[in-house]
Amino acid sequence: MTEPAERTPRIYLSPPDVTDVERKLLLEAFDSNWVAPVGPDLEAFEDRCAEVTGVRHAVALSSGTAALHLALIAAGVRRGDTVLVPSFTFAATANAVMYLGARPVFLDSTPESWNVDPQIVADELRGRAVRGNLPRAVITVDLYGQCADYEPILDACDRYGIPLIEDAAEALGATYRGRAAGSFGQAGVLSFNGNKIATTGGGGVLVTDDGSIATQARHLATQAREPVLHYEHRTVGYNYRLSNLLAAVGRGQLQRLPRLVEARRATFEHYRAALGDLPGVTFQPGAAHGVPNRWLTCLLLDHDQRDRVIAELDRVNIEARPTWKPMHLQPVYRDCVMRGGSVSADLFHRGLCLPSGSALTPHDRDRVVSVVRSVVMQ
Ligand SMILES: *Cc1c(COP(=O)(O)O)cnc(C)c1O
Repeated sequence: MTEPAERTPRIYLSPPDVTDVERKLLLEAFDSNWVAPVGPDLEAFEDRCAEVTGVRHAVALSSGTAALHLALIAAGVRRGDTVLVPSFTFAATANAVMYLGARPVFLDSTPESWNVDPQIVADELRGRAVRGNLPRAVITVDLYGQCADYEPILDACDRYGIPLIEDAAEALGATYRGRAAGSFGQAGVLSFNGNKIATTGGGGVLVTDDGSIATQARHLATQAREPVLHYEHRTVGYNYRLSNLLAAVGRGQLQRLPRLVEARRATFEHYRAALGDLPGVTFQPGAAHGVPNRWLTCLLLDHDQRDRVIAELDRVNIEARPTWKPMHLQPVYRDCVMRGGSVSADLFHRGLCLPSGSALTPHDRDRVVSVVRSVVMQ
């Protein structure tokens, strides 16, 4: 018999992993009285984000979603435009397109990496070029911390002069052919939400090599206030800047980033070694083109078994979830165009995300493994 739920602490899917390092930096920021969306920690955090992703500029914002919104504005997306978006993603990717009155066209995944299928991107751009209705932008997502296949995707985008925006919200610390996630589009998006690889307790960063994009993002994020003494505004702005206090937490997380990523990868390897022999069980593939951060360990199994595993884990106080429900299957996006087959629908039907936090203990992992094994072997 498994232990009764109330006696064991809940194991969460991807809880924050913060220590005295972050606590100390946060209190120092507090004591310095830089309790505002401006200050030395914010600048240091931005510099470090730029360094880690290998780009020139980073703008710290209140969320990854805000970063997506500003990246789309920088790409010139306006009312009535089309933006190509992977269907298999978190809703924020598509929602940011809707904020601007543009329409997402959803693209299916490749089973090789679960990311957007580069062939579908190329076909869709070619078809639209012929019909004279190219999209204003293409968004890629580095799903569960694995980079999309950027060589063919950038080839296709460059052929038609379409800007790429990289939603690397889940991919801090991952690489593609040796280059860091976040650095592939004209702008990249990182998330520091509480459940991501590194957190500020809520926050996001726009990273870019283009100084004018960084300047525009910073301007729009601070209410588009003109640099004069009185309050002068030529355009509608947003209140999207990150607090200096939260940036201090982010600085601590980035100091610990190698360990945070290493722990996620070790958890993935552990689950794969302990569950990979089960009949019908396969893990998210690691495509040859890069090194994922393994933000969440995801696997596929029979649909009914998947649901039974989630229910049984919940019964013993362990949180697990299905993989993202594709956007083209979401009620809010039911009128949008979808290109490709049924790969993403199948990944949702059979996909399971296991507890993957970087503070997960070997004992926690063993608890998860024994439940999954017992349900699948029933
Ligand atoms: C988390 C996430 C976002 C949004 O980031 P927030 O910081 O929560 O706004 C966007 N895209 C993807 C793929 C995500 O996983």
